[in-house]
Amino acid sequence: MTSKTYDFIIVGNGALGNAIALSLSEKGKGQKIAMIGPRERPGCASLAAGAMLNAFAELEYGSLDHETPRKKFDAAVEAANLWPAHLEKINAKSGISPVTIKEGTQLVSNACASDLDDLNFKAIIDYMDEYNEPYSELDPKEIEGIAPEPQARPMRAVLLEREGSVASRHLFNAYDSFFAKTENVDLIDKFVEKINIKGKNKQLITNDGDVYEAPHIILASGVHTQKMIDQVGLTAKIPRLFYGIGTSIILKSNTEIPSKVFRTPNRGLACGIYVVPYEDNYCYVGATNFVCPWPIAEPRITSVHSLLESAMEQVNTSFYKGHIHKIIVGYRPTTLDTFPLIGETSCEGLWITTGTKRDGFHMSPKIGAEIASAIFERTTPLNNIFKPERNLIVTMNKEEAIEKSVLHLLSSGYQHELRLPKSNWNQMLIDALRRSVEEAYDKAGFSDESFGIPPEMIDMYRYGHAKENLENMGVT
Ligand SMILES: Cc1cc2nc3c(=O)[nH]c(=O)nc-3n(C[C@H](O)[C@H](O)[C@H](O)COP(=O)(O)OP(=O)(O)OC[C@H]3O[C@@H](n4cnc5c(N)ncnc54)[C@H](O)[C@@H]3O)c2cc1C
Repeated sequence: MTSKTYDFIIVGNGALGNAIALSLSEKGKGQKIAMIGPRERPGCASLAAGAMLNAFAELEYGSLDHETPRKKFDAAVEAANLWPAHLEKINAKSGISPVTIKEGTQLVSNACASDLDDLNFKAIIDYMDEYNEPYSELDPKEIEGIAPEPQARPMRAVLLEREGSVASRHLFNAYDSFFAKTENVDLIDKFVEKINIKGKNKQLITNDGDVYEAPHIILASGVHTQKMIDQVGLTAKIPRLFYGIGTSIILKSNTEIPSKVFRTPNRGLACGIYVVPYEDNYCYVGATNFVCPWPIAEPRITSVHSLLESAMEQVNTSFYKGHIHKIIVGYRPTTLDTFPLIGETSCEGLWITTGTKRDGFHMSPKIGAEIASAIFERTTPLNNIFKPERNLIVTMNKEEAIEKSVLHLLSSGYQHELRLPKSNWNQMLIDALRRSVEEAYDKAGFSDESFGIPPEMIDMYRYGHAKENLENMGVT
């Protein structure tokens, strides 16, 4: 057993861990930093991500009605501005082929899901107008690399000029090479088994029994951070993390693929269908989402089925003769209120950065910069809005949230081939969905009418997984 001391230790080597390590290494030139995480990165969301650098394209109808999501969105806009310089630093030192942003996101509206798509598409346009974000109308027929089925053809399309993508594996190879040449950062290819906190003394024990100590420890191990939150006794004070299980597929197409990200708006309970282009006609098709209290490492049949079907119907019918190169499963770190956990805990020097759900890859340079400033300049990261020990953030009352959940469930049904008899079934279905959502509220066991459950969390409340948090966070 060996024992080693650092100034800063980051637990986790995903997008957040790496971005934090980079920012800390810049600000703390004479300080020793370690990032602990297995080089193969099992269960890493960042490696499973499409790695779209999307801020506006991620918005939904009503997304910015409340000030907290608006502040989060403003940070996402700032993150977009940080990416070019972030990559420049990595490329200048990594010694491997430069990581570049494939610029442009082609956002389309088709009629393959419910009219929630129309609301979300319009909301994105309206928000881009409000923020003076550049975009241009596209003739859907002019989009290269698509050949959807006639009934799935896009009726409207816009190009978001400044929102693109990077190849996540390439970026991680570049990060690994970058840190191998960075004097004040050690990459430790291990897994943290245990965290011990005794006053200012913080100790990590890795899978081989070695001990690492530092006055500052930053927990950035994605959804797995929950285990360490439990070990340090903060379970009751921090919104619980769930596995936002996402499946994606890497295809090798026999025909041309879109040259830029091609995507729909987010759809009920998930992120719609999208294609991220890679080299040599390989492309990433994403992504499904279901929230679960435990990991499920193997892809669900329904997830793969719906991705392949959507890709062939809505993107390119010629994909039928393409090849499946890889199926990937990753865990979006998703908190009970769906907002991130970013900041210092009540245990001085113990920091948490996770809960980034669907946009953590994009947000990573911003979160890295915020944490480094907080540590070195005593600023408050993202104004402490997402400090880990907090009550649940509530953005909707019960009635609004029930309405939203019904819209999401309906959209999810239409994404999965829902077809109704032509005799007033639409209203009957809406009524049934509403009853099912109301039943989840009843089972959740709180009566506070001002508290609305985010749609993707309904089942976590229905099946009792939220109970412990609710009892400790003032929801009655
Ligand atoms: C299918 C899918 C598609 C997505 N698409 C996008 C997208 O297009 N754009 C976007 O911005 N975001 C996207 N996301 C979300 C994004 O991936 C996450 O928000 C973000 O990557 C989380 O990064 P992280 O560093 O916090 O966690 P992770 O990426 O999960 O990294 C955590 C790391 O910690 C390591 N680790 C775990 N436990 C320990 C331990 N005990 N000790 C040491 N190391 C440990 C893991 O091996 C892993 O490498 C997507 C997610 C999924 C699943």
